[in-house]
Amino acid sequence: MPENNKLPPYPEGHEYYGPFVVKTLTDGWCYGAITENPCDYCPECCPTGDGFAVAPDGSYAGLVWWTDCPWEFELIERPGPEKFFGVFEVRFPFPVKGEADLAKNFQTVLPQLQFAYERWKAGEDLGPPIESDDDASDHRVGPDAEQVALQRTGPGGGSS
Ligand SMILES: [Zn+2]
Repeated sequence: MPENNKLPPYPEGHEYYGPFVVKTLTDGWCYGAITENPCDYCPECCPTGDGFAVAPDGSYAGLVWWTDCPWEFELIERPGPEKFFGVFEVRFPFPVKGEADLAKNFQTVLPQLQFAYERWKAGEDLGPPIESDDDASDHRVGPDAEQVALQRTGPGGGSS
């Protein structure tokens, strides 16, 4: 069995964290549920949900997802202690009717998640979280990767 088909270590110590949604396991990354989705309350599909994502090494981040929102991927809470690399608000482009849909959606945000993870691992600042307070409409609509954009472009100059 290839290494990347193994579930990552489960992040212990969060009483509101639910089980891994095993179907979402991708490249050793897995989504875990905080809210139950799909749920019994939404007649169609859940417009939003909470979960977490765990990297193969056990590092993890919170995910707040929406199926209809202007932003794609934004940091809303800074990385915390040790293995926690922040909370991200993300767009899940497909309606969530079952675990397979969660998997499909999770895979669409995984590249950005991995990018943020790599930067965090490298000790880079992920930038200031979007301040949302209690007002979700406060969300700034910006270029997708603005919050994750690396400021790498230095003054071009002669090397050597
Ligand atoms: Zn629902």
